[in-house]
Amino acid sequence: MEDKKCFSCGKMESDVPVINLKYKQNELWICPQCIPNLIHNPDIVKESLSKAEESFNV
Ligand SMILES: [Zn+2]
Repeated sequence: MEDKKCFSCGKMESDVPVINLKYKQNELWICPQCIPNLIHNPDIVKESLSKAEESFNV
């Protein structure tokens, strides 16, 4: 995973600062706008999270 973009909204690290997350021994990136969803509305990010998870094992 070389392109650092928010797993939730897809913003690139060249556009916004992104924060590195660890998830299931892989790395994910999230932008500040999406962090509140990750904290307070896990259901909203759940779908994009599982989508990101699919790319772990390819
Ligand atoms: Zn985002």
